[in-house]
Amino acid sequence: MAALTQSGSPKQDWCFENTYLQLPAMFYTCLPAVPVREPKLLVFNQALAETLGLSDIASQPETLHYLAGNAAPASAQTFAQAYAGHQFGGFSILGDGRALMLGEHVTPAGQRVDIQLKGSGPTPYSRRGDGRAALGPMLREYLISEAMHHLGIPTTRGLAVVATGEPVFRQTALPGAVLTRVAASHLRVGTFQYAAVRGEVGDLRALVDYAIARHYPDLAQQPNPALALLRKVIDVQADLIVHWMRVGFVHGVMNTDNMTICGETIDYGPCAFMDHYDRATVFSSIDEQGRYAFGNQPGIAQWNLLRLAEALLPLLDENEQQAIEIAKDVVGSYAPMYTSRFETMMLNKIGLQAKHDEQDEQLIMDLLQWMGEHQLDYTNTFRDLGLARLPDEPQYRTEAFLAWTKRWQARLEQQDLSKAQSQALMDQTNPVYIPRNHLVQSALDQAEQTGELAQFDALLEVLRRPYQFTAESQKYAQPAPLQSSYTTFCGT
Ligand code: AMP
Ligand code: MG
Repeated sequence: MAALTQSGSPKQDWCFENTYLQLPAMFYTCLPAVPVREPKLLVFNQALAETLGLSDIASQPETLHYLAGNAAPASAQTFAQAYAGHQFGGFSILGDGRALMLGEHVTPAGQRVDIQLKGSGPTPYSRRGDGRAALGPMLREYLISEAMHHLGIPTTRGLAVVATGEPVFRQTALPGAVLTRVAASHLRVGTFQYAAVRGEVGDLRALVDYAIARHYPDLAQQPNPALALLRKVIDVQADLIVHWMRVGFVHGVMNTDNMTICGETIDYGPCAFMDHYDRATVFSSIDEQGRYAFGNQPGIAQWNLLRLAEALLPLLDENEQQAIEIAKDVVGSYAPMYTSRFETMMLNKIGLQAKHDEQDEQLIMDLLQWMGEHQLDYTNTFRDLGLARLPDEPQYRTEAFLAWTKRWQARLEQQDLSKAQSQALMDQTNPVYIPRNHLVQSALDQAEQTGELAQFDALLEVLRRPYQFTAESQKYAQPAPLQSSYTTFCGT
């Protein structure tokens, strides 16, 4: 029975279970975190703690030690997960090389979430890595994942960032940190690839059954649960990528180990938000070929889903040829599903409720082409279109734009939505505030160099209400100057 507080209500405390450890032993290694020298709690997500039934932990002295990996809560049984993945197209056996699961916390409402420490020290899966993380990248993951959450996009979240008091060595010595990550689960496409390559069919089946029980219990009744799971992952991933394209998010490392089964965005490494519209936008220093460029994300998701289908082949049909046909057919459903949802989303961005005919596609394409030609800010241009009066800027006086506006206005008048409804649709589809790269960088630089979190906190506050314009937050909507390029780094 849960402990009670003085007022008689249940204590809002950790409640760990570890259903994952019922999987075959090949899927994990149990081990403790490696303690750190001088833990200091820098950021704590009280709002998230409250939704998880953890509102009392902030005031408990042992919490800092748990979030640093210096001790583990009584009900936790810590372990690292094994997985594989295609990284930039090449297959590797991977695993949590710098992360440790504390377990599945079950909230008072019965929701089950993974609680994982990231940067918690080496594991058997670390390969040549040190198992640690630098402060800047952990604050970055915290900030961007909060922004994504408030934008209404499925994502893992940060519960806390703890400074370790130890340096980590990258190009230079940097302050170290541990991020506490909360996820619906950490099951990835790469977990299934790992089962397929390293395990027997029984291991793969156990993993499929586990994923279904955990995320999609209704599918257990389906005649072919593996096929039903594949269909579901295609569905949730199509939705996720449409969201990314809506807000200009570039994930940066869409390796199959960074694609979840539950449809949450995971692993914020070299990710960033696009300023001016350009499908070729890449921020990651190592993505020289542009494999994970903004405009390639829908296609890469399909490539990754094909890898999931491949891993599931033995369960799709006993006859291999038949299984391949099934896999091709199911993954083939992704492109039309994605395209149709993408089009609806883009139409919503200009206040149109649904696609009417092919001319709507052209309307979107022409708008994007004009934005690209003039290097216009993706976020602000859509907000401008939703204003009662367009700003007095040269791009809105071009012939191309005036001609486009005529078509757009005519189309708006054709639909059943009132002006106010159409306006509301735009306002809820188009954010005002995204994490602008120069502001994120400046906040992280301040934190890293001075230990001050003033800029970080202020930015976080604005990103909590991304769709609500306020005059005092105007500077947070400004893009960096066009000439400035932004680069982010892997291996952080
Ligand atoms: P990522 O690119 O962050 O998805 O990481 C890919 C793989 O590299 C995963 O298996 C990580 O656990 C591992 N990895 C990344 N950084 C480190 C590190 N500093 N030490 C050990 N393993 C790492
Ligand atoms: Mg990863």
